[in-house]
Amino acid sequence: MTSPILTSLTELHREVAQLADGRVATYIPELAKANPDWFGICLATPNGAVYEVGDTAIPFTIQSISKPFVYGIALEDNGRASVLEKVGVEPTGDAFNSISLEPGSGRPRNPMINAGAIATTGLVAAQSPTHRSQRIRETLGRYAGRELAFDEAVYESENETGHRNRAIGHMLRNFGILESDPTAVVETYFRQCSISVTCRDLAIMAATLANRGIHPVTGRQALRGEYVESVLSVMETCGMYDSAGRWVYEIGMPAKSGVAGGILAVLPGQVGIGVFSPPLDAQGNSVRGIRACRDLSRYLDLHLLNHPSTGRQAIRRRLAGSEFGSNRLRTTQERNLLRERGNALQLYQLQGHLSFSTSEVVIGDLLDRVPNLRHLIIDFKRVLSVEESACYLIHQLLLRFREQGITTLFTHSQHLPLLGRYLRRKFGDSIGLWFQIFPDNDRALEWCEDQLLQLDNVPQSTPDHITATEFELFHGLSETQIDVVQSKLRHRPFQKGETLVEIGALADELFLLEDGQVSVLLGGPSGAESRLATFSRGMHFGEMALLDRAPRSARVVADTDGACRILTRQDFEQLGREHPEALLGVLRNLCIGFSSRLRKANAERAALD
Ligand code: GLN
Repeated sequence: MTSPILTSLTELHREVAQLADGRVATYIPELAKANPDWFGICLATPNGAVYEVGDTAIPFTIQSISKPFVYGIALEDNGRASVLEKVGVEPTGDAFNSISLEPGSGRPRNPMINAGAIATTGLVAAQSPTHRSQRIRETLGRYAGRELAFDEAVYESENETGHRNRAIGHMLRNFGILESDPTAVVETYFRQCSISVTCRDLAIMAATLANRGIHPVTGRQALRGEYVESVLSVMETCGMYDSAGRWVYEIGMPAKSGVAGGILAVLPGQVGIGVFSPPLDAQGNSVRGIRACRDLSRYLDLHLLNHPSTGRQAIRRRLAGSEFGSNRLRTTQERNLLRERGNALQLYQLQGHLSFSTSEVVIGDLLDRVPNLRHLIIDFKRVLSVEESACYLIHQLLLRFREQGITTLFTHSQHLPLLGRYLRRKFGDSIGLWFQIFPDNDRALEWCEDQLLQLDNVPQSTPDHITATEFELFHGLSETQIDVVQSKLRHRPFQKGETLVEIGALADELFLLEDGQVSVLLGGPSGAESRLATFSRGMHFGEMALLDRAPRSARVVADTDGACRILTRQDFEQLGREHPEALLGVLRNLCIGFSSRLRKANAERAALD
């Protein structure tokens, strides 16, 4: 089925194709050979999706669209400060080939007009002119995700006729902006302009910029993330020459045009656009290219300054310990205490990009809860990125929380290296004092619950030998009934790590835990096992399969050394025949166990909704 995106792109292409204004550039004789009917539009996303209509595979020369990419190389080679000394960032409102240099310093006003671009080319580090043009070609290839070639015919054609650019080169040499032979630099500039691309290449190169310098498919870094904003800034203010103001006003995306008819536009984080149509307007911008970008911006809401508020979306869910618990099964007494005190434990599931505005909302929400808060779990599982400003705020929050005696736990934070590095830098070796990292919410919740329960002095040390009445299965049974059941139990010691129940095994035993702790584990899709429940002394397990006779549905593993007592199905059934009232008591306790687990599941479901 055709994507609706492609359908609307096709529609737009058909409409815009009817524009017949503009003229193909002829001042570089070779460019005059272009067919004025050629017209392609291509969208590429940072996820690697590509939508293309029309002449998206016809090669043409990149021309001035090379300028922002070469500016990126100059920034990486020299750093922002020294590049700014040689080339400014002010829009001129002049034509691309104007010979406008800052009076006095001779500094070109910006890197998007030819003077600034030639100066920028001179800033690309290289051992020779050939090396310089090869570096430029290779870098642009990294943006496109394929090796790009020079168009020798166009290069020769501009090299023979480009007197004006040569003049600009000499002016730059005169003012000391170029420090070496201007002829070689200008010829390298002609070479970079002659790199052959397609409309599809332009869209992908734009998507690489939209993706903070990383090619959406190859994953290779074409430009260091910190310089992407600089490159996009000059495109935003100076990319469309004297129509730059109008462009920002109407279309609102950083963009760059070239005299061969290409336009490249970028909406950071969202999409890269390439358009190709040779007829140009008086400013040297593709007529259909401008119209296509304008319509795309309107129909797809691509204006950079039309930004939705994202703050509220950062908190996916907030759960209190009173309504949500770990998978460790608790005794009735413990459950009641946790329900009472659980509000001191809060689990925040965050999502999306943590920027200043989104973390501000999280922090505001948290601060409201501080008076009652003892333990905070922050789940980063669905957080896509954390900006430095958010790292700063999280760091500040951790400082204050510790002062207030609030412990903070992070879960699922390993995919956010920037946050980890930031906090390690701030806290150094004492990092463990400020927050703890847990693999998942279940373990973090269990840890906090244990803390909350200790607070209330729930007896933690228990006598060595369990008394029969401690077994939940025997609650409400008479002494004689207990004796009858006990006489059928078989003792079974186990060691830490031992598997007591295998998935798929025949189920004909019920286990009463006399000592130690066991967990029920289920393999997840990723192979890692997740914990369904943990049982401790006095609890029983294995009853489900015993009752419904289905094979075991999960694995039970001993967390510690310990022992249990086993009731086989045979004895269970015999108990029913010989002592029906004792079996009734046992069954009632099994039901109570089921219903309390169902209650917990229901309460958690309600909390999740
Ligand atoms: N090579 C061309 C020139 O310098 C590039 C100009 C452009 O694409 N706007 O004239």
